[in-house]
Amino acid sequence: MSTLAVDGISVAFGGLKALADVSFHVEAGEIFAIIGPNGAGKSTIFNAISRIYPVQGGSIRFQDRDLLTLRPHQVVQSGIARTFQNIELFEKATVLQNLLVGCHARLPRNLLAEFFFLPSVRKTELTARRKVEEILDLLDMQHLRGELIADLPYGARKNVELARALCAEPRLLMLDEPASGLNPEETIDMSFWLKDIRAELGVTILMVEHDMGLVGRTADRVLALANGMVLAQGSVAEVQADPKVQTAYLGDAE
Ligand code: ADP
Ligand code: MG
Repeated sequence: MSTLAVDGISVAFGGLKALADVSFHVEAGEIFAIIGPNGAGKSTIFNAISRIYPVQGGSIRFQDRDLLTLRPHQVVQSGIARTFQNIELFEKATVLQNLLVGCHARLPRNLLAEFFFLPSVRKTELTARRKVEEILDLLDMQHLRGELIADLPYGARKNVELARALCAEPRLLMLDEPASGLNPEETIDMSFWLKDIRAELGVTILMVEHDMGLVGRTADRVLALANGMVLAQGSVAEVQADPKVQTAYLGDAE
């Protein structure tokens, strides 16, 4: 059974078909990449899975649950966390505070219990703090814990966003262009982080990425998309060698 099964989904904005009959399955423990020229529909796939965009037709199942019946916050609670193409963090808060928010995104809340700071709340708080420490260690970010997001360089912010997504303890991590804006050295670091995350936390990774170096170093399988349609699926080498994929990229370069 696949961890994530996307079957025949379509998404339209007015007359524009952003996705047409897109299918792919991601297996547990895989690093799976979605590639394609700008406007291909890559981020739309993430927004469909996150239940931000309405889906017309088809199905999306995650660990045998029908995601299309869930609301966006229930998608996070079902074990899917994501980062955004444009980093979304609390700028005036510290790294630590941002990560604690990530933990709470998944936990069920009881506002009355929180108001009285009952033992159950204290326990949840402790669990969250332990998780944050684990992630800070894993991504080698302990030295940044007290820094304000606004004071951090771009590459470090991207890592904080990745860390925050992991604090929600996902089984599936969705990353929208994890290497965009990173320099070559940071991009290589990112490929090590992704493999560490899979090895240490057993998380399945679905990513949208332009940097074929990163894709080549990390992805087990690749889906190539253009104009909302699937062009090819397979290993990195198979997809790169596909004439339809090559034509799509040449068209993009013109
Ligand atoms: P990619 O991430 O592959 O660059 P997107 O998924 O962001 O592409 O966009 C695919 C197509 O859908 C584009 O033509 C884009 O303009 C359109 N699109 C995406 N989101 C919206 C939206 N919220 N409203 C209208 N059109 C959208
Ligand atoms: Mg995009």
